[in-house]
Amino acid sequence: MAREQKTIVCREHGRECDWEVRDSDEQEVLLATQEHERRRHAAEVTIEQLRWRLRPVRRGIGGL
Ligand SMILES: [Zn+2]
Repeated sequence: MAREQKTIVCREHGRECDWEVRDSDEQEVLLATQEHERRRHAAEVTIEQLRWRLRPVRRGIGGL
């Protein structure tokens, strides 16, 4: 059984940026986002500050 994937989309959080990440492991999503914020946006954020950004990947997205 596949776990539901979670995603964080940078553009949904006030950035002019097309980056996004998705994974069934939300810790991986959070760590990737933290790394991205540091490298691309020079922003130091904690995992807890990122947790609210997580949302499920909707089935069929992009295939409407
Ligand atoms: Zn970004």
